[in-house]
Amino acid sequence: MSRLLIIGPPGSGKGTQAHRLSEQLGIVEISTGDMFRTHLAAHTPLGIQAEKYLDSGDLVPDHVTTAMVRERLSRQDVTKGFLLDGYPRTVAQMNDLDAILKGTGNALEAVLEVTVGDEEIVRRLLLRAGIEGRTDDTEDVIRHRLRIYREETEPVIAHYAERGIVVRVDGAADIDRVTASARKGIETVMARTAT
Ligand code: ADP
Repeated sequence: MSRLLIIGPPGSGKGTQAHRLSEQLGIVEISTGDMFRTHLAAHTPLGIQAEKYLDSGDLVPDHVTTAMVRERLSRQDVTKGFLLDGYPRTVAQMNDLDAILKGTGNALEAVLEVTVGDEEIVRRLLLRAGIEGRTDDTEDVIRHRLRIYREETEPVIAHYAERGIVVRVDGAADIDRVTASARKGIETVMARTAT
């Protein structure tokens, strides 16, 4: 049973790692970016509401995102553990998540921070743009998302660090190595908090 969060700038490879880790650990992956993109593709009311934010690289309003996550965390399959990817991304969302998890008596156990420098991020995302065609992978929008990450999301990491549950891995290393250090780091933090 693990309750985890993976956090990192756009292009850090956190989606890839979230996928691998959730599979290896047998827990559900909850990616708010993927959830929004699924809604968008299906033209649901939530997708239509989120579209302009995703396209411009802005954050969807906190209350909208939190409502979506609250519903997701109320489902049965999260009782074995979960890996959040992309939420919380603001201090307000972090407080919302604390309140949601408090209701279930299940606080987050470890936060995995994936770090990568700005220029490498822009390089990777422009490369991805040519492959996946995500509408938010243009240079201006990438730099905007990065700025939001530094301003809104990094303070969230600082709060979790005060709780002693942050594990940091170098996202510039190769994929397998990142997964391996992530698993080791998560185990260490969980062993520490279990006592
Ligand atoms: P990346 O980390 O590459 O920016 P994501 O797939 O995690 O990509 O998110 C894509 C977009 O989805 C964000 O730019 C934002 O518009 C929206 N989004 C995802 N998670 C959140 C969140 N927690 N709060 C607000 N908006 C979000």
